[in-house]
Amino acid sequence: MKALVYQGPGRRSWQEVPDPQLQHPGDVIVRVDAVTICGTDLHILKGDVPEVASGRVLGHEAVGTVTAVGAAVETLDIGDRVLVSCISACGKCRYCREAHYGQCLGGGGWILGHLIDGTQAEYVRVPFADNSTHKVPEGVSDEQMVMLADILPTSYEVGVLNGAVRPGDVVAIVGAGPIGLAAILTARLHSPRTIVSIDVADSRLEAARTFGADVVVNPGTGSVRAVIDGLTGGLGADCVMEAVGTPGTFEDAVRLTRAGGHVANIGVHGAPATLHLEDIWIKNLTITTGLVDTYSTPTLVDLVAGNRLDTAAMITHRFTFDDFEAAYDVFSRPAETGALKVLLTVPK
Ligand SMILES: [Zn+2]
Ligand SMILES: [Zn+2]
Repeated sequence: MKALVYQGPGRRSWQEVPDPQLQHPGDVIVRVDAVTICGTDLHILKGDVPEVASGRVLGHEAVGTVTAVGAAVETLDIGDRVLVSCISACGKCRYCREAHYGQCLGGGGWILGHLIDGTQAEYVRVPFADNSTHKVPEGVSDEQMVMLADILPTSYEVGVLNGAVRPGDVVAIVGAGPIGLAAILTARLHSPRTIVSIDVADSRLEAARTFGADVVVNPGTGSVRAVIDGLTGGLGADCVMEAVGTPGTFEDAVRLTRAGGHVANIGVHGAPATLHLEDIWIKNLTITTGLVDTYSTPTLVDLVAGNRLDTAAMITHRFTFDDFEAAYDVFSRPAETGALKVLLTVPK
């Protein structure tokens, strides 16, 4: 089969590799019908994730069709259409028993395209298949569904639910990249009063408006503080989500939050950020961080199936597997290409 193979920092290729085989009784093999590329894949390609070995097939998000089923798999059959979640779950360890699947101690967690071969391929082996896939409901398209593999549950769980967004809240989201936009989409499910999107790129702020931001601010040309103060009588936002992953944006998120409010960090950080305890010890803040657990995926699947969530709006570019290299190129230059999420499907 063909797959997108990591060849060490800065190097990747769409190339021939051996077909995956069932290795454990809980495995299934899935023929990949639709797949996307994640910002994390770009981090891997930069060499930021050293545990990814050269030769690894990348990708941790897919929708596909089951083609082989291990002897211990109970809920899946050949021919089932499934979402392959970015998080695999042994289902038995302490963290899985608490629905913290991202922290699985039994060999799951984020393993696809990381510690084992991933989904950017014609076929993928999915371990712990009963706990690591979700059946695609009738009437839901591959492209709607594939957005539920990672980006939607990440924004919803680590942003909206950790940030405890409630009806009537003023919610500020720092960063209007794909994760920030997915945070806007899922924050709306909780009926906030006002969603403020903050980004230094006006093109991204335009996208934020189409996803449901009520107010947009570019800190290069306007005062974020003044906007938030104006909306909240000077108190600060009820919830601020950080969806960039730099020290400055994290520190801004903390400063923009009202006393008693929530700071929900979604961004992936590569450098230390300063926590100004000398200012905030008195403010009763709740600051959360997290890797997605995907416990919310069944809820998100229901919302998509019920036409309450339009996830396909995230997809800006469509390719077939033959153009995998071009898809990476477009996705890695969002400022020029306007890419949010790219979709790759089997050539017709
Ligand atoms: Zn991802
Ligand atoms: Zn586990």
